[in-house]
Amino acid sequence: KETANTMTGALLFKNIPVKQVMTPIANTFMLSVDEKLNFQTISNIFKTGYSRIPIYEVNRNNVIGLLLVKDLIFVDPEDDTRVSDVVNIFGRSLNTVWPDDKLGDVLRELKTGRSHMALVRDVNNEDGDQDPFYEVKGIITLEDIIEEILGDEIVDE
Ligand code: ADP
Repeated sequence: KETANTMTGALLFKNIPVKQVMTPIANTFMLSVDEKLNFQTISNIFKTGYSRIPIYEVNRNNVIGLLLVKDLIFVDPEDDTRVSDVVNIFGRSLNTVWPDDKLGDVLRELKTGRSHMALVRDVNNEDGDQDPFYEVKGIITLEDIIEEILGDEIVDE
């Protein structure tokens, strides 16, 4: 039965839209590029258990990079290192996708990209008095897609 479920998942996942499986922005753990990597910040990061943290500048709609938690091995909490000293700058490390993109296409993109995480972004033009702007809706990782294929939650090690 498990095999049958996986085969169904493998056939169906391709057409599922990103917005259906992404982690919404409200649940996404991000840091500001201006933050200092002191003891408190580092311990907050470790507590989340995530290995990749999107980094924003000024506001969360402006994601400029990615902090890889493994890079914190070399950071001394006493040094007041800034997040900006450690991040990979946007473009080299994060793909962006639309909420309506299909998982089949996103999987292909994530496999060739350098990070297994993409930013889900949409144009917000709800307010007619304001210029349209890019709004970050959430993130999606390879793991979110694989879960759709396997039809099951993956228990992280
Ligand atoms: P990790 O390697 O950090 O465990 P995964 O890529 O395995 O991350 O993803 C596991 C789940 O956690 C996915 O649902 C993904 O969307 C979510 N996730 C990954 N990074 C973050 C983050 N910084 N904030 C919120 N959710 C995240």
